[in-house]
Amino acid sequence: MQIAKTLDVLRTQVEKLRPGGESIALVPTMGALHEGHLTLLRRARETCDHVIASIFVNPTQFGPNEDLDAYPRQLVEDAAMLQREGCALLWAPGVEVMYPDGFVTNISVSGVSEGLCGASRPGHFDGVATVVCKLFNQVRPSHAFFGEKDFQQLAVIRAMARDLDLTMPHVHSIIGVPTVREADGLAMSSRNRYLSQEHRAAAATLPREMQEAIARIEDGQDTAPTLAALEDALLGAGFSQVDYAVLADAGSLAPLERLAGSPARLLVAARIGGTRLIDNMAVEQNR
Ligand code: AMP
Repeated sequence: MQIAKTLDVLRTQVEKLRPGGESIALVPTMGALHEGHLTLLRRARETCDHVIASIFVNPTQFGPNEDLDAYPRQLVEDAAMLQREGCALLWAPGVEVMYPDGFVTNISVSGVSEGLCGASRPGHFDGVATVVCKLFNQVRPSHAFFGEKDFQQLAVIRAMARDLDLTMPHVHSIIGVPTVREADGLAMSSRNRYLSQEHRAAAATLPREMQEAIARIEDGQDTAPTLAALEDALLGAGFSQVDYAVLADAGSLAPLERLAGSPARLLVAARIGGTRLIDNMAVEQNR
């Protein structure tokens, strides 16, 4: 596996991978890789001739009081994992390569980025959209893979790629991959390693109570009291704050008071021991 740290090396290596129009998958990450990331890699390998992963802890998607400095960085271990998975090229630019002096552009996607994490993390999705647009232009992949774990991020990227005509000619397909979970149901995340043993055990309440709430909503019970009970259960289990617990349209992410016939999603962000966890699950229509 080659490792590119400059744009010149990246472009040379990418062109070597597609002399005859081979399909190229891009899997963008912030590193500290786990089975969730590796599942994206495997899907990418099944789908495309070559896989390129990127590792970049993007400062512009972190707020001033967030965990940018503490975010785990382990490039050597990550590169070894990627190599084992058959990744052809790792794109690992430094901040000065992504944002050279004088960088002044910002991509802001309205609508789908405004509620949920957009409300509790102002500027976060501008940072995401801008860096993913740059990654698409730098690598020009035929396919790009993102986790449904970050459901709103996936929606923001799809909207950005559509609106800026990135989906054609180069990114033919943006593929969402279902969330990979630990044995107790907690969604895998690089941030789970911040959790103490006690908080890690309590964190499994999040997916469990979400499933409970979904069962009630699917059964026809009222949404508002069900979501209030979900919040109470999380606070009772040791979470310190629930940023949101929302039933939303799975496409627009607009909040729903009740199931309305189109695909729906339950999305939650909650804090435990200083760590902010997010999760989301599909909600089926009333049976
Ligand atoms: P991150 O390194 O957290 O920015 O994540 C990089 C990519 O991996 C994003 O598309 C995430 O949605 C995806 N991802 C992270 N965790 C999981 C997971 N548990 N299951 C599936 N995809 C994931």
